[in-house]
Amino acid sequence: MKIPEYVVETIDALKQGRFEAYIVGGCVRDFLMGKEPKDWDVTTNAKPEEILKIFADAKYENDFGTVLLPIREKEIVIDVLEITTYRSEQGYSDRRHPDEVRFEEKLDKDLERRDFTINALALDPANPEEVVDYFGGRKDIKAKIIRAVGEPSDRFKEDALRMLRAVRFSAQLGFELEPKTQRGILKLAGSLKFVSKERIKDEMIKILASDRPYEGIMLLHDCKLLQYILPELEQGVDVKQDRHHIYNVFKHNALALKHCPSKEWQVRFAALLHDVAKPKTRKIINNVATFYNHEYLGAKMTDKIMTRLKFSNDDRLRVVNLVKNHMFYYNVGEVSAASVRRLIVKVGRENLKDLIDLRIADRLGSGTPKAMPYKLRHLQYMMEKVQNDPISVKMLKINGDDLMKVLGIAPGPKIGAILDVLLSEVIEDPELNEAKILTAHAKDLDKLNLEELRAKAKEIIEEKRQEEDRDIKKQYKV
Ligand code: ATP
Ligand code: MG
Repeated sequence: MKIPEYVVETIDALKQGRFEAYIVGGCVRDFLMGKEPKDWDVTTNAKPEEILKIFADAKYENDFGTVLLPIREKEIVIDVLEITTYRSEQGYSDRRHPDEVRFEEKLDKDLERRDFTINALALDPANPEEVVDYFGGRKDIKAKIIRAVGEPSDRFKEDALRMLRAVRFSAQLGFELEPKTQRGILKLAGSLKFVSKERIKDEMIKILASDRPYEGIMLLHDCKLLQYILPELEQGVDVKQDRHHIYNVFKHNALALKHCPSKEWQVRFAALLHDVAKPKTRKIINNVATFYNHEYLGAKMTDKIMTRLKFSNDDRLRVVNLVKNHMFYYNVGEVSAASVRRLIVKVGRENLKDLIDLRIADRLGSGTPKAMPYKLRHLQYMMEKVQNDPISVKMLKINGDDLMKVLGIAPGPKIGAILDVLLSEVIEDPELNEAKILTAHAKDLDKLNLEELRAKAKEIIEEKRQEEDRDIKKQYKV
């Protein structure tokens, strides 16, 4: 791990101007751990105006009192360094932001305002051996401990986001919370309500994308934070399951996350939420706990959760789709190529791998993994086998223009409706996908009006859905 030349040069330029300057915060922590930092931050006793005098290119960000210095390589901006004047913070009446920021003369004041000892380090690249470490941050890095700077409950009272950051660093770095720091969080967990949903979402994404997403979620749970973020999940704690499960619903959801083969946070989130509706759908039938339709209600709940936490539309739709379809039925020999094509239409080709990862996560997280890799491998084989089969209107051997020509009709909704009916039939039997056959059939369909055509397409889909629902029911107890 090396400090980039432009960082060293920036610090040298400030020192030339007779100021102090250090790299500071998370980048020092990462540097000492031999990891590539996300960004390099510089702190100095120079005031913003003085920094601006040294760097012609620098811009003063008034809102945060930070000077931004674009770093160029051959005209292209390759990084933007944040240079921040030593500062202390006062007030925090909204339990999240300081009421007042005061520039300081001494580095120790600046380090004191930082959240954790491992983040309260400064380093002069000219003397990398002499780390400025007033709070034992290096010792805590060695011992893998996250410890608040100063009195933990005071620090969490100032800014409730720090509680989430503590859990997030634990998940990212594999560190433990120091007991007093953890007690501080337990005491102040309720003040998470002062943190904006966007910031909560950002930290959740970092936890899910970390190397220890399961440990992160369990730590949120143990710290009593999760109830304020995903109360729906917490409802699974007391919900027992029968048959193929040995864990309660909460534990099973968490373990599905743990075993999720995907590194993508959206798929991991789907694993965590896949059975979120089980507490609400649980019914005892013949002395057995059942959860009919939990995947549909779960999809709705996931939609609500991700809307509430202000996730992007793309992310939300992706996770909802996986939760909704996680019960897909597949059994070697029992499921036809047509139903695999239908699954692909329903889920989307680009989501198949994620859906299979979710199924693997689900099975491994049940605590009683059975022989199923063969089944899934067979499904993958089937998916490959049908991959060139027509599954969208675009793949039909005739298109809207052809239809208008042979039927002599004008552009309009009827064209689309005829194509939809043709597709639903071709999905069942790809051999029908030939221009001649389709044209002949289109002529018949043209005799129907728009309503009738739409009803017909629906009818075909509906009939198949009922078959699938029957199949899914077979495994509902799973
Ligand atoms: P990463 O960039 O990997 O997410 P980081 O530690 O660099 O982690 P940043 O959010 O980039 O975190 O912040 C840089 C530094 O600013 C932190 O290391 C910490 O010293 C300080 N800091 C950031 N947020 C807070 C906060 N809410 N309270 C106190 N200090 C903070
Ligand atoms: Mg950072």
